[in-house]
Amino acid sequence: GEERENLTYDAFGHAVRELAQTVADDGYVPDVVLSIARGGVFVAGGLAYALDCKNIHLVNVEFYTGVGTTLEMPVMLAPVPNAIDFTEKKVLIADDVADTGKTLKLVRDFCIDHVAEVRSAVIYEKPHSLVKCEYVWKKTDQWINFPWSVEKPVVRRQGQVLDS
Ligand code: 5GP
Repeated sequence: GEERENLTYDAFGHAVRELAQTVADDGYVPDVVLSIARGGVFVAGGLAYALDCKNIHLVNVEFYTGVGTTLEMPVMLAPVPNAIDFTEKKVLIADDVADTGKTLKLVRDFCIDHVAEVRSAVIYEKPHSLVKCEYVWKKTDQWINFPWSVEKPVVRRQGQVLDS
């Protein structure tokens, strides 16, 4: 619909602390927070500090190729995390939103063969998400404006080739 969920940096600060508290209250103690770039980087940083976890890893996921064509499915871009780093680890995947859930499913499926346990934490989850995250700050069916992407970049960059 027309409505937007507008998250400010201030509200995000409170949201990520509350999200971390639900993880802690649940007794989940991750060895690694795995952030999904780019939006999940903000969430992962907040969670890692609040959960006193010093290991953050990152995976780049895009729905787009370097030439700007939209793919049916999201893809993991290089450098793909080394599976060895996750062997027998308890992983907490962090992202800003599970919308279709395809991005989270991709990363979760990548992890699941290697890790001791994998759970997911997101600020928002949409009702139709095919992945149901263990930790969700707020459910919404609205389009979300995140503080880090609501404004245009300060420079325009064209023809940027993504690592692959
Ligand atoms: P997915 O559909 O795979 O769950 O979501 C993939 C990505 O699309 C999210 O990580 C996020 O970057 C972007 N996205 C999905 N829904 C929204 C939304 O409501 N607002 C914004 N700003 N981005 C979204």
